[in-house]
Amino acid sequence: MADTQYDCIVLGTGGVGSAALYHLASRGARVLGLDQFPPGHDQGSSHGDTRIIRLVYFEHPDYVPLLRRAFDLWQQLAEASSLDIFQRCGILQVGPPEGEVISGLRRAADAHRLELTTLSTDDVKHQFPGFRVEDDMTALYDPNGGILLVEDCIRTHISLAQVAGASLVVGEPVTRWKSEGNVVRVETTKSTFLTNKLIITPGPWANRQLPALAKHFKILRKSQFWFDNDAPDYQLSSQCPVFLFEHGIHTFYGFPQIDDKGVKIADHAGGRVSRSPQSLDREIDTEELEAVSLFLRQCLPSVGHQLNQHVTCMYTMSSDGHFVVGQYPETPNVHFAAGLSGHGFKFATVLGEALADLSLDAKTSLPIGFLSPERFS
Ligand SMILES: Cc1cc2nc3c(=O)[nH]c(=O)nc-3n(C[C@H](O)[C@H](O)[C@H](O)COP(=O)(O)OP(=O)(O)OC[C@H]3O[C@@H](n4cnc5c(N)ncnc54)[C@H](O)[C@@H]3O)c2cc1C
Repeated sequence: MADTQYDCIVLGTGGVGSAALYHLASRGARVLGLDQFPPGHDQGSSHGDTRIIRLVYFEHPDYVPLLRRAFDLWQQLAEASSLDIFQRCGILQVGPPEGEVISGLRRAADAHRLELTTLSTDDVKHQFPGFRVEDDMTALYDPNGGILLVEDCIRTHISLAQVAGASLVVGEPVTRWKSEGNVVRVETTKSTFLTNKLIITPGPWANRQLPALAKHFKILRKSQFWFDNDAPDYQLSSQCPVFLFEHGIHTFYGFPQIDDKGVKIADHAGGRVSRSPQSLDREIDTEELEAVSLFLRQCLPSVGHQLNQHVTCMYTMSSDGHFVVGQYPETPNVHFAAGLSGHGFKFATVLGEALADLSLDAKTSLPIGFLSPERFS
């Protein structure tokens, strides 16, 4: 084997890459993280203060075992950090009884015997007085919903990885990587590195870094809005939960107020396709703003009308809306996670662990088989 500098290089130290770096370094591997931007930046898919974590998973019950491990790992990370990066506050989910969200939640709860409480319209008014639920909607409460502080999670993973011996080089985009027998050559705009293994966690740059799979990924532009609030009903400190409403063609979700920016809300559905991260339109779309405002007036009527902040972000959608995680085709020393399809941050830490397993041990006991790229062949 050639004399390499690293056991593993992680290309892209955003949500998943920062976690992979942490797990690799914690196991004593010689590891280097490379990113074009500094940890916690706002150019990819992992910014905007907060992400939802939830256990009863409407997207598919197969994610639940991974979530159980993710909850444990986030808890451990929170204990190791001096910040409140992970807080459980419950999640209120509302939608038509036969809709994707409610039927998916019931399916996951049944499959894994998870706690999920049905609330009547009056129960909601009583327990969560800031919310209005129409009579023909179903409301379900999952006590395991919570909040992850997205940029702080990334910075914590990176700094703990560095404490464990990881190196980090930022501000040098990777221009090329090539597997040459047992070695992978990684070139940036300034340097060349040799490594035994490469992990690629490229977020919305997936098409560029994973060319053999590019046709399976597309970028969607997503907006996050923060509205003024002085009502106690929406404060985290007043036991306000995170929330997700399937509402006509929209799936609005949001967070209790955690700071002076107000209540954050966004639409998980829709979004315009963007050709590349560089060409992302970051301006406010008035139609999106009107839809969010109308929803707030109907379902969270005491939230203020003043928009305090707007930030755009990107989903990297896979062709079937499920993550794509595993070995890069025909290349046993390169593994990747991509196409997280707008619901991946809560899994960042467990996907980082799985990638570290695949890189160091060529196998993992984590149940990620259903996410393999082989499903597209
Ligand atoms: C608005 C919004 C809301 C969301 N809400 C939730 C939620 O509530 N719950 C949830 O679980 N998920 C949510 N998601 C999804 C989740 O945030 C993403 O799936 C996840 O953060 C993606 O992480 P990643 O590591 O794949 O990408 P990123 O964090 O974007 O990391 C990719 C990294 O690769 C680097 N990179 C790429 N190319 C190169 C190169 N050539 N050279 C060097 N570096 C490179 C980038 O600079 C970047 O740092 C949301 C996403 C958005 C946009």
